[in-house]
Amino acid sequence: MADVLLRDIGKSFGALEVLRHIDLDIRHGEFVVFVGPSGCGKSTLLRMIAGLEDITAGDLLIDGEICNDIAPRDRGIAMVFQSYALYPHMTVYENVGFALKMAGTPKSEADAKIRDAARILQMEELLERKPAQLSGGQRQRVAIGRAIVRHPKVFLFDEPLSNLDAALRVDMRMEIARLHQELDATMIYVTHDQVEAMTLADKIVVLEKGEIMQVGPPLELYRRPANLFVAGFIGSPK
Ligand code: ADP
Ligand code: MG
Repeated sequence: MADVLLRDIGKSFGALEVLRHIDLDIRHGEFVVFVGPSGCGKSTLLRMIAGLEDITAGDLLIDGEICNDIAPRDRGIAMVFQSYALYPHMTVYENVGFALKMAGTPKSEADAKIRDAARILQMEELLERKPAQLSGGQRQRVAIGRAIVRHPKVFLFDEPLSNLDAALRVDMRMEIARLHQELDATMIYVTHDQVEAMTLADKIVVLEKGEIMQVGPPLELYRRPANLFVAGFIGSPK
């Protein structure tokens, strides 16, 4: 089980209100994609779900429990960032296992988890390399591997593919869709790429200036956009 419920969530940085009345039910196993232009509040919302940013209004519930004040590591959530944030001096094996080491996981258990993540991501042959010896796509795989080893209930992705070139983006998109099938986890994914949103999402959430414009399955948004903003964003392929 990993339901994530957002109940009238708001966020202000001082006098600047960046999110308003965010109400959303995300059900176990759903793949939910947030789309919207730069600055509309996508990253801030993900960071609030992860616990990296305070919630200034409303409630976040994970599996029925209010999590506003729960520490990030206790939420059962792992986040994958656009900038892979790998440790350059560590091997892939060490990067993937770092969180386990910090948590005091016994070596043999950590080893099994690292090798399992490497198998899932088909990167067993990369384990002894350093990040500098990897391509952009391989680095992003390592970043995803670091999330997988923690066996999170919920994966958060913040524009994970936007640093990759177009061909790789398509490959990684399919890879992430496959992971969703294989891992049976809830996935919350942020992008400003409408093709990514249309192909990955069970449910798309369109954000504009900190507010939800529309929520629905990709085809519904495409066929029945609630307003001109959604029509412009989802309806017209670039
Ligand atoms: P997006 O990810 O959709 O591009 P963000 O969530 O990064 O948007 O930002 C939403 C708004 O919040 C922007 O106006 C941004 O400048 C502002 N913002 C984000 N983080 C902070 C912060 N730590 N302090 C002040 N303003 C911030
Ligand atoms: Mg962002």
